[in-house]
Amino acid sequence: MDGRRVVGRFAPSPSGRMHLGNVFAALMAWCGVRSCGGRLLLRMEDLDTERCNDLHAAQLREDLRWLGLDWDEETPQQSLRTEIYEAQLAKLEAQGVIYPCWCTRGMLKAASAPHASDGRVIYPGTCRNLTPEERAARPRRAALRLLVPDAVYAVEDGVQGHYEENLARDCGDFPVRRADGVFAYQLAVVVDDGLCGVNQVVRGADLLSSTPRQLYLQKLLGFPAPEYYHVPLLIGPDGRRLSKRDRDLDLGVLQQRMTAAQLIGMLAHAAGLTETSAPISAAELAGIFDWHRVRQGPIVVQAE
Ligand code: GLU
Repeated sequence: MDGRRVVGRFAPSPSGRMHLGNVFAALMAWCGVRSCGGRLLLRMEDLDTERCNDLHAAQLREDLRWLGLDWDEETPQQSLRTEIYEAQLAKLEAQGVIYPCWCTRGMLKAASAPHASDGRVIYPGTCRNLTPEERAARPRRAALRLLVPDAVYAVEDGVQGHYEENLARDCGDFPVRRADGVFAYQLAVVVDDGLCGVNQVVRGADLLSSTPRQLYLQKLLGFPAPEYYHVPLLIGPDGRRLSKRDRDLDLGVLQQRMTAAQLIGMLAHAAGLTETSAPISAAELAGIFDWHRVRQGPIVVQAE
């Protein structure tokens, strides 16, 4: 990272107990920073105020400490940063790339718009060219969408390699604020990482396809692009991604079965970082951590 100090972050959503997949992503983010003497920020991504709350956030901090994953600073949670997002949105509006959109999810599904490879609906542009009169005639509050260019945005990911999307063709105009006024993850994450000087983003491979959108937002808002490391997802033997629904793999249950060092030993081995799954502390793992050894493909775990 050409002499600059690495600034990474944990950006968990406090919507429930961490599961094994969250633990793995947090461990990789921590090792990525601690293995090179960088600075690590913690940020609660609680834009979804129906699912997120302070109790979950407190539990998350406790779970990270149990794992031996510390952080240097906690930056303000997203639900308290609306004014900051408003100010950045105004910059986008001044560039003429934001328009109101009244389409609901149901309408988009019914319009049988094409889908991106990850199942996202590619927005067909329904509200893009409405006249001022047509806009004034819509009674409901609108979501705000970002107009995307017919241009390729590419990332050289430290784990997954090259990934690119032509934003107009593969993604389509995307929302930056919902009709109820809640800012979209895409905007919030770019603003928060940008304003905090984050230059290393480590997260699950499910977010790789968000990266071209985030690179475009960074360009519009004048933030430098961080380095990206999208770590493999953990999947069950049935090929399904682990999620908060898999209670048997949440940290509360895992803590009753093993120590932090046993858990980290298992994950480090599954990730390709160690020869055996012998117990190892997070600090010991940081000492031998090497991005080149982290596997690309999904990691299969058994819920015993
Ligand atoms: N809050 C997201 C999550 O918990 C992570 C977002 C990110 O790392 O960019 O999956």
